[in-house]
Amino acid sequence: MLDEKHDRLDSDLSGAHVDTLAVRAGQYRTMETEHGEPIFTTSSYVFRSAADAAARFSGEEPGNVYSRYTNPTVRTLEERMAALEGAEQAVAMATGMAAILGVCMAFLESGDRVVVSRSVFGTTTTIFSRYLKRFGVETTFVDLTDMAGWQQAVNEDTAMLFVETPSNPLSEVADLQQLSALAKANAAMLVVDNTFCTPALQRPMELGADIVVYSATKYLDGQGRCMGGLVVGNSEHMKEMVGYLRAAGPTLSPFNAWIILKGLETLRLRMQAHCDAAHQLALWLQTQPKVDRVYYSGLPGHPQHQLASEQQRGFGGVVSFEVSGGKEEAWRFIDATRMISITANLGDTKTTITHPATTTHGRLSQEERDRAGIQDNLIRVAAGLESVADLIADLERGLEAV
Ligand SMILES: *Cc1c(COP(=O)(O)O)cnc(C)c1O
Repeated sequence: MLDEKHDRLDSDLSGAHVDTLAVRAGQYRTMETEHGEPIFTTSSYVFRSAADAAARFSGEEPGNVYSRYTNPTVRTLEERMAALEGAEQAVAMATGMAAILGVCMAFLESGDRVVVSRSVFGTTTTIFSRYLKRFGVETTFVDLTDMAGWQQAVNEDTAMLFVETPSNPLSEVADLQQLSALAKANAAMLVVDNTFCTPALQRPMELGADIVVYSATKYLDGQGRCMGGLVVGNSEHMKEMVGYLRAAGPTLSPFNAWIILKGLETLRLRMQAHCDAAHQLALWLQTQPKVDRVYYSGLPGHPQHQLASEQQRGFGGVVSFEVSGGKEEAWRFIDATRMISITANLGDTKTTITHPATTTHGRLSQEERDRAGIQDNLIRVAAGLESVADLIADLERGLEAV
């Protein structure tokens, strides 16, 4: 969205494959910007005339107005993300949570009812159960894979179904086509948090989702460098999102947009490597006597293995497992590793290890954790891009300590 320049290069991406779009979509090609996509660290823009300013403010003329809601670097990221998702438009937000709250603010109103899967990101639960509740939006939580539960909870008063699939940390998979049919039958919206798969592994809109949200902080950046969020959908819905962004201002900085843009260029290769590593770790963990159970949808014994094979182009980078014993043994395992990072984050080049029961799921009651299947001996590993042999050697240190 730069103004026309005499050194602009011709570009034609019509019919381009998704791998090409990941590298080139949204780019405004000039002799200067081809290999050094510019970061526009500007708050505002100037206009040719008073009439031009008026036309841009009213939206009659497309173009940049003010960086709270229009910035060329951010726009390049949005166009590239929409291309990867096969969607009409994307809107960038400051964080994943800003994207999720933004969707709620843009599409819900007092008196609406929403149905949310119980296993969504912990802070997402807080948005619905604590904040939206104050404004008269009532939430029913259901088990992600319990289709009968969804059918019972959704009715004509339901405005939105919100799911995250696969779930964290147990990799449960929801049938998005079935949920989309249920949403449509009740004139409700299906919103999918696709942070764990990214468009490289799953494109929810092709399965009937209305809106897809992302924490770009995870795999989209992929290198633990910045925070970011994205909302993807059709242009009618995204017009509402831009309206909200313009009013409320949870804006992504151009610098962070540029970082995530660079992340997208290697997304497919990284996701493939994360999946391969997690799969190898899952197969290895399964053979270990001190490991009671492994949760990875790539294993044939996983309850939604078939569905994951059809719905996703890979089983993801997260593998969880239960060690023999309880919390003490799980903590000893984690503390015995010498390379893998002890953190609750994921989607980084560096492999991370987490004890969900006392961190990501620590605020739940024992009963809620039991219901979610988060045992005290559960450990989650998010595979990075190190050598799998080195990861196994580090996990072996953990097993010796159990
Ligand atoms: C991290 C995460 C979020 C929140 O994103 P932030 O960028 O941390 O605000 C939302 N959903 C999922 C699935 C996440 O992993």
